[in-house]
Amino acid sequence: MQANNEQPKARPNAVPAAVLERIKVAVGPKGYTMDPDEIAPHCQSWRDNWHGWVPMVVKPANVDEVAAVIAICAETGTPIVPQGGNTGLTGGSQPHDTGVEIIISTSRMNKVRAIDTINNTMTVEAGCILAELQQQASDADRLFPLSLAAEGSCQIGGNLSTNAGGTQVLRYGNARNMVLGLEVVLPDGRIWDGLRGLRKDNTGYDLKQLFIGAEGTLGMITAAVLKLFPKPTEIQTALVAVPDPTAALALLSRATEAVGEQVTAFELIQRRAIDFVLAHIPGVPDPMAAAHPWYVLMEISGQGAPDSLRNAVEAVLGAGFEGGEILDAVLAANRAQGEALWKIRESIPEAQNHEGQSVKHDVSVPLSRIAEFIERADQALAQAYPGVRCVAFGHIGDGNIHYNPAQPLDAEDGPKGADFAAEYGAINRIVHDLITEMNGSISAEHGLGRLRREEAKRYKSTVEMDLMQTVKDALDPSNIMNPGKVV
Ligand SMILES: Cc1cc2nc3c(=O)[nH]c(=O)nc-3n(C[C@H](O)[C@H](O)[C@H](O)COP(=O)(O)OP(=O)(O)OC[C@H]3O[C@@H](n4cnc5c(N)ncnc54)[C@H](O)[C@@H]3O)c2cc1C
Repeated sequence: MQANNEQPKARPNAVPAAVLERIKVAVGPKGYTMDPDEIAPHCQSWRDNWHGWVPMVVKPANVDEVAAVIAICAETGTPIVPQGGNTGLTGGSQPHDTGVEIIISTSRMNKVRAIDTINNTMTVEAGCILAELQQQASDADRLFPLSLAAEGSCQIGGNLSTNAGGTQVLRYGNARNMVLGLEVVLPDGRIWDGLRGLRKDNTGYDLKQLFIGAEGTLGMITAAVLKLFPKPTEIQTALVAVPDPTAALALLSRATEAVGEQVTAFELIQRRAIDFVLAHIPGVPDPMAAAHPWYVLMEISGQGAPDSLRNAVEAVLGAGFEGGEILDAVLAANRAQGEALWKIRESIPEAQNHEGQSVKHDVSVPLSRIAEFIERADQALAQAYPGVRCVAFGHIGDGNIHYNPAQPLDAEDGPKGADFAAEYGAINRIVHDLITEMNGSISAEHGLGRLRREEAKRYKSTVEMDLMQTVKDALDPSNIMNPGKVV
C-alpha cells in the first residue's frame, strides 16, 4: 500500500490545442500519441496506486526533438512529466489529473551511440532498457553492473533520474557512481552537452550530479556516458541462515576482510518474507531443511584462477560456522542454482502483495545501527498495532532495509484491510521518526517523487530544503519540469 495523498482535481485547463499542434509539427506523426488507449498506461503507475491524465504523450526520436518540444513548453508555460520505463515507485513519472501537463517519453531514444572498451565506457540514449544495456556491455566482454528487479522495463534515463540502487551497490555504488557524462535538455529548451568520458575533470561544479537523482525536476536527461567494468569470471552465490541481523553484519565484516570488494551483494531476508514466498510463489522450495529466523543472500564475484573465489567463500562460511554467525548455509553449485536463490529474494515484494495491506518503507541507517533499527521499529509497531506482521529485507550491505509492516492476520487483534490502510500515515510517522532519530534516510533508493515530498519537509533541515529549492528555482524558474514532485 502506498498513499496517493492528493485529491484528484478537475480538468478545466487542458493544454491548449494550439500548443499541441506546435508539438505535433516539432516531432512529426510518429513522435506523439493522443489516443486515450495508448496514453492510459503512461498515466498509471507500476503498483497502480498513482493515476493522472494528459492529452498527449510525446515520443521524440532524438535530443533535438526533445529540445524543440521543451522550448515550446517553456514559451507557453506547459508543464512536462519526463517518463522512462514508468517503473518508479514514488509517483514521480505520473502526471496529475489536471490535464495541463504533457508526458515526454524517451521510449524511442534507445540507441547505444558508442562502446569504447579502452576507455571502458558506453555512450547511450536515455530510453535504452537497462537489461539491454547489460547485454550489450556483456557482448563487448564488459560489465554494466546496475541491476534491479525492474531491469527488463526500466530505462537508463529513469535509472539516472532516480539514482537507482539495486543489488550491487555494495561493490559498484549507486547509479550516480556509474556515470561520467550526461546530455541534458534544460527547462528553457537549451541542450547541455556534457557527454565527456573523463574520470578526471576538475573544472568547477560537477553539473551532471545535479541532474542524477533529480527525478526529472531540473531537466530531461537524453544521453549518458556510463562506466564499464571487467566482467567477472567467477560468481559464487550462497544463502546463509543466521540467528539475527547482528550476526549477518558480523558475517559481512568477515567476508569483506577475506575477499575485499569482491563481496558484490549482501541481502538480508527475514524468515517471514520466505514464508510469504513459499505460500504465494509457485515452484520455490524452502531452501533449507529447517526454518531459521534470518537469512543472508551473499554474492561474491571477481576475476582470478578458476574456483579461487569458491575456495575463499567456503573458508568464510567455515569460519562463520565456527564463529557462531552461521546456523546453516547453501552454496550454489552453478549459476542456475545461484539464480534460484536470487528468485527467493526477488519474489518477496510480489509475495507480500498476497498478504493483504502493507506499508512499504525504503529506509537506510548506518550499518552499525541496522539491528537496533529493526528491533526498535518492531517494538514500536507491535505496541501500536498488536498482531502487525513486520517484514524486513533488503540491501543490508548498503544499510538499506525495505521495512514493510503487513496487516495482522484475521485471527489476530488489530486493524485489517482498509482499516490498516487508513493507518498508512501513522505507521509512516512511527518508522520515519525513528529512522531520522537514528541519522538515517526516509528514502534510500526510490526517491521522493510525490510520495515522500511532504514528508521530506518534516525530515530534512530547513537549510537543506532551502538549498534544494534554490537549485530548482535557478534552473527551472517557471516550474515546468515535473512540478509537484520532490520540492
Ligand atoms: C519490481 C521493481 C523493482 C525495483 N527495484 C528497485 C531497486 O532495487 N532499486 C531501485 O533503486 N529502484 C528499484 N525500483 C524502482 C524503479 O525501477 C527505479 O526507480 C528505476 O530507476 C526507474 O526507472 P524508469 O525508467 O522506470 O523511470 P520512470 O519510472 O519512468 O521515472 C522515474 C522518475 O525519473 C524521471 N525521469 C524518467 N526519465 C527521465 C529522463 N530521461 N530525464 C529526466 N527525468 C526522467 C521521471 O519523471 C520520474 O520522476 C524497482 C521498481 C520495480 C517495479
